This record gives sequence, structure tokens and C-alpha cells, in this order.
Amino acid sequence: MELRAVKGMNDILPDEIGRWQRLEAIFRRTVELYGYREVRTPIVEPTQLFVRSIGEATDVVEKEMYSFQRHDNELTLRPEGTAGAARAYLEHKIHAREPVSRWYYLGPMFRGERPAKGRYRQFYQAGAELYGEAGPLCDAEMIDMLARFLQQLGIEQVEVLVNSLGGPATRLRYRQALLDFFTPRSAQLSEDSQRRLEKNPLRILDSKSPHDQALCAEAPSILDVLDDEDRAHFDGLLAHLDALKTPYRVDPRLVRGLDYYTRTLFELRGTGGELGAQNALGGGGRYDRMIGELHGPETPCIGFALGLERLLLAMAPAPETSPGWVYVAPLGAEAQREALRLASELRSAGIEARVDGRGQKLNRMLPRASNSGARFCVIVGEGELARGVVALKDLQAHAQEEPPRAQLVQRLREILGGEATR
Ligand code: AMP
Repeated sequence: MELRAVKGMNDILPDEIGRWQRLEAIFRRTVELYGYREVRTPIVEPTQLFVRSIGEATDVVEKEMYSFQRHDNELTLRPEGTAGAARAYLEHKIHAREPVSRWYYLGPMFRGERPAKGRYRQFYQAGAELYGEAGPLCDAEMIDMLARFLQQLGIEQVEVLVNSLGGPATRLRYRQALLDFFTPRSAQLSEDSQRRLEKNPLRILDSKSPHDQALCAEAPSILDVLDDEDRAHFDGLLAHLDALKTPYRVDPRLVRGLDYYTRTLFELRGTGGELGAQNALGGGGRYDRMIGELHGPETPCIGFALGLERLLLAMAPAPETSPGWVYVAPLGAEAQREALRLASELRSAGIEARVDGRGQKLNRMLPRASNSGARFCVIVGEGELARGVVALKDLQAHAQEEPPRAQLVQRLREILGGEATR
């Protein structure tokens, strides 16, 4: 049997990793400027954590989790980052130590969805959680932070959708309004949505079926049943977004797939063509009840997650900006030892160097150096050793010179104009 990667799980090879690292670095830099600090939680958590926090009647919990049993424990590969972070927040009693916490994370998530372009079974998310503030100021600031992050990545074609799901009382009223609307029309709904009608009618609004969607357009809007406090919160959010000049569109039918949201909800959609059907770049919302439901003190929270694969699809390819590295080619046994010392010195000076340990003949080594992608080749032969020099070839400029051995680092720095040591 030929062994292959698991379906829907991808290798990220070294020649692709530069874009990932750049994306991750920009993410870290952006959120750290807002005071967020990284948290790393286990990839495996007790299954019950996800069942209780994400909600039983969601696609993720119903059919997408990678769950298994080990040492009598029911475990699951995390399908998202919010639940594990909330568990850690509670377990370490962070609420007792500080009134407001800002956490971010980066890492792989697992969902057994049907693989497609932009939809995988192992995928990477970057996300953040803010504990201890009820909003709406911080809600607006978080959405604005995301919009700015996408701008930094050069992703211009984006739409920011916002909605309010209200608090528990509003949700109950809205649930009833949806039942009243959909029950007499249930025969027109897709099979999936008929099932949702019984379990979780809000999820009908999430349906991908065009027929369901047409019906949803006529369904009552949650914004019409918000109570006074929910309404004030939502109006505050929009006013703060206006103050920040963050462009947004109110979409009263935005519900998103996870059950834990209350009040503010948002999603960032790519409007460029490269994403296809999987155009949700990221999203999030407020989940003020989760910590309480996990038996902690009532703590207002808001968070988001972005899909890194989708961000990479939406980003324009950026040229690699490496200063170039040095191919060190020794000719002879003594030269090899000198090459090892020389390469060490180059690295200490911040210059990438690789020693060719494969062969001794110049006519074999030179073509290898030219094809390697190196910017420079440094040849150390018996003659050069005797004279205390090295042969330095600039493979890009097709130039050659013979600096004294002791001045090689300085000479390379001059050529690179200081770039390599930055
Ligand atoms: P969610 O955790 O469902 O709110 O998703 C947040 C973001 O994660 C989405 O907008 C996507 O960008 C990304 N995402 C979710 N599921 C997948 C998946 N199966 N494959 C790739 N990206 C995903």
C-alpha cells in the first residue's frame, strides 16, 4: 500500500513556508500592538469541552469532530481554539488575577468536513480572545483590528458583515418567531433544514441551499426583536465602527455555525474570485455565557478566528526578499576543515552559509554552486589556503575577486550593503 497524507490534510513544504511565516509574523505584530499575548493550549481536549461549549446541535459537534478513546478518556482533536482557551482561562483562574485578558493563538484545527479548495480537515487558524470586557467599544476595536490586519496583508477585496444575536431572552423570542415563520413552510425546506427546524431553527439561516436561502430572505429579522439593552449594544457597536471609519455591512441573517455566540457577531468575506465558494476568511463574536456554562464566573468574552489557508489564497504572491546565502566549496581535506570554520564565522556574522561536503573537484562543485540558488560561492583550495585568501564569486553579478581570508565577512557586508546582517 502506498502511504499518503490523510485526505484533506496538507503538507506545507519548505518552498511554501516563507508566505506562511510572513503571514504569521504580521498577525503577531498586529495583535500584539493591541496588547494580545500568545497562549498555546493542547491540540487534544476532553470531548465534553467541545460538546458543552460549541453546542450539540451544530455541524461541528454532530458530525465533524475527530474523537477517540484513550486510557478511558473520551478525547477530541480541537476543531477550533475558543473552547480550549476558555478552559485554560478557567483552569488557571486567570479571572482572579486580572480583570481583562487578551490572548491570541495560532495553530492547526481539525474538522471532518468534505475537502474542497479552501476547506480542509486539518487547517490553520489565527485567533484571539478578549476576556472581561462587555463591549461594545472592544467589539468595534476587534473588528477594526481585523480589517487593518487584512489591509496589511494586501487583501483589499473584503466585506465586513456584522449582526447581533442578542442575549438569551432575545434568542428565545427570535427562535419562536422563526418557528412561527418556518413551520407552515416546512415542506419547502431542504431535508437538513427540516431537521434544524426541530433542533435549532437559527441554523436554517446558515443553509447553503439556494431554495432555503430564498425563503430565509423573507424570514423575520433578529434586529426587529432585540430588547432595549441588546439594541443599545448593537447601536454602540455601529457608532464605534463609524468613528473608526471601518467599512461594514449589517447582515441580519448572519448566524455562523457555532452555538455559543451572544450579541455581536461578525464575518470577513473575501470578494475577490480566488476563494471560490469558501469565501469566509474569518469571523467571530461575543460569547458572554460560555465561561459561566463551563462553571466559571460569568465573564463577558469576545473572539475571532481566521483561516490561514484562505488568507494565503486571497493574498497576492510577494517576492522573496532574502539577501542571499553563501555556498562554501572546499577543495581537499585541509580546505574542508577551513571551510567549516569559515562557514561558522559567516553564520556568526548573520550570513547564511552551507558547506559542500560532497566532492573535491572544482569542475563538479562549480555547477552545483551555480544551480543551488546561492548568491555567492566561496572557493577554498590549496592555493588559496597557502596565500591566505579565498576566491569569492558573486553568482548574481558574475564577478570574481580574491579577498584576504580575514576580510571575507567585511567584504560580503560591503557587497550586500548591510542587508545580510539585518
Ligand atoms: P469558524 O471557527 O468556523 O468560525 O471559522 C473561522 C475561519 O476558519 C473560517 O472563516 C475559515 O477561514 C476557517 N475555516 C473553518 N473551517 C475550515 C476548514 N475546514 N478548512 C479551512 N479553513 C477553515
